[in-house]
Amino acid sequence: MCTTQAKVSEMMATCQAECEESTFQLRAWLRFYIELIGAANIDYAATVWHNFIIPKHRFIFLKIINEQLLNRDHLSRILTSDLCVVCENALESHNHLFVDSIYTRKFVDSVENWAGCLSWPKCFRELQERKCPAKPDLDELVLNAIYSATLYKLWRNRNNCLFNVICHSASFLSKEIKCMVKARVVGFHCINAKGKDSYIWRVVNSW
Ligand SMILES: [Zn+2]
Repeated sequence: MCTTQAKVSEMMATCQAECEESTFQLRAWLRFYIELIGAANIDYAATVWHNFIIPKHRFIFLKIINEQLLNRDHLSRILTSDLCVVCENALESHNHLFVDSIYTRKFVDSVENWAGCLSWPKCFRELQERKCPAKPDLDELVLNAIYSATLYKLWRNRNNCLFNVICHSASFLSKEIKCMVKARVVGFHCINAKGKDSYIWRVVNSW
């Protein structure tokens, strides 16, 4: 019996060591990737990498800030058309997709109807330079998660238009964001939240 227990303890210790090693390797790979794409030493890290933001949203958020998405202004040499696939009214660029497009403005309006003001950038430069405060309040963190989800959905919808010939309505995507952010934020619910934080939790829970 003692031998069995010793073997189990030994296996658990080995598993823990392997787990710690793979976590370390994952972090090392992440650092390598960030350096590779030229996003090292950025002061918007806290804005992009917060737990409230779904990992795939963080990834697209980072690519947008670094203007690295493969949209049509980058692919214009090999594509026959570089028009925006969502509205077909302007050249597709990061600035058009995430700031200028009529669809984007309508989408942001729809999100702001339930989320409050997102202070959406007026130009792409402003989007790249946007930062969360050093010590953000809970409401600022929630708004940042909504902001990131909105960027992600804009890119996802653009890809749906391009590859599946489907363009979802702004209100449909807005509702999806609401459910997504609620699930994420409530998943980190703090039962000890007090005062203003407690109020914010109740608002998010009511979505
Ligand atoms: Zn467009």
